[in-house]
Amino acid sequence: MAAVTRRLRSSSYVSLIRRSLSTAPESASASASSESAQVRSQSTSPPRVDPKDRNIQWVFLGCPGVGKGTYASRLSTLLGVPHIATGDLVREELSSSTPLSKQLKEIVNQGKLVSDEIIINLLSKRLEAGETNGESGFILDGFPRTVRQAEILDDVTHIDLAVNLKLPENVLLEKCLGRRICDQCGKNFNVASINVKGENGNPAIKMAPLLPPPHCASKLITRSDDTEAIVKERFRVYNDKSQPVEEFYRARGKLIEFDLPGGIPESWPKLLEALNLDDYEDRQSAAA
Ligand SMILES: [Zn+2]
Repeated sequence: MAAVTRRLRSSSYVSLIRRSLSTAPESASASASSESAQVRSQSTSPPRVDPKDRNIQWVFLGCPGVGKGTYASRLSTLLGVPHIATGDLVREELSSSTPLSKQLKEIVNQGKLVSDEIIINLLSKRLEAGETNGESGFILDGFPRTVRQAEILDDVTHIDLAVNLKLPENVLLEKCLGRRICDQCGKNFNVASINVKGENGNPAIKMAPLLPPPHCASKLITRSDDTEAIVKERFRVYNDKSQPVEEFYRARGKLIEFDLPGGIPESWPKLLEALNLDDYEDRQSAAA
C-alpha cells in the first residue's frame, strides 16, 4: 500500500483558508494541580471559566484504542461544541458529490492514504462552516497526528488545549485484543476484563468488559487487524509520530496529560476534574 502524501506547501492553503485567529492564547494559570494522582504532569491548567463564555478549541491525542473518541464525544455533548473526527469528515465527503469527493474516491479506491492537504482542506471547510453557524468551538479527534499537521493546524486556527489520554501499553494491548464486533448488528463489544495491579509507582487499573447481550454473544467476530503483532505495530507507529506532537503542544504550554485510571465510570469524573469542569456537570444537571 503506497502512501502517497504530497508535500505540502503551507502557503498554498493558508492564503486560501486562513481564519482570523480569534483569541490570544489565554495565559496559563501557574497553579499546578496536585489534586489528582492521575494528572501526572500538567504543563498547564485550564482557567476556571464557564465554558459557555469561552471558545473551546481543543484537540484530543491518544494511542489507538485508548478511547479518545468516546471521551471527546462525551465532552462535546457536555460543553455543547461539536466533536469533529477527521475520519468522519472523509467519510462524509466520500458520500457527497463534490469535485473533491471524486478525487477522494479515486485515492481511496487505489488504497492510497489521503494527504494532509485534503484533510486540512476538509477540516478548514468544517471549521469555517461551524464559525458561520455560531458554534462556540470544537473538539478535534484524529488530527493532528504529526508535527507537520500540528503546524498546519496552527496556521488555520487557534488551539487552546491538547488533551493527551494515556493508558499503559499492556492495558491498551489487552483492550485492543478484547475487541469484538457483532457480525449481525455491527455493534462493538469488548471481552477483556482488565485488572492490572499497581506496581512500580503505577496505579492499579481496572476496566470492566463490555459484554454483548445474549442475542449477539454467539455472533461475535474479531477484526482481522486486531492481532497482537498488528496492534503492537500500530502502537509503534503512533508513538513515533505522536511524541513530537505532544512535545509541540507541551512547548506551547497547551498539553494536558491524563492517565486514565480505568474505564469510563472511573475515568470520566477524574477527566472533568483535570479539565476544571468537575463542577460544570453538577451545575448542568442542577439546571436541568
Ligand atoms: Zn448483534
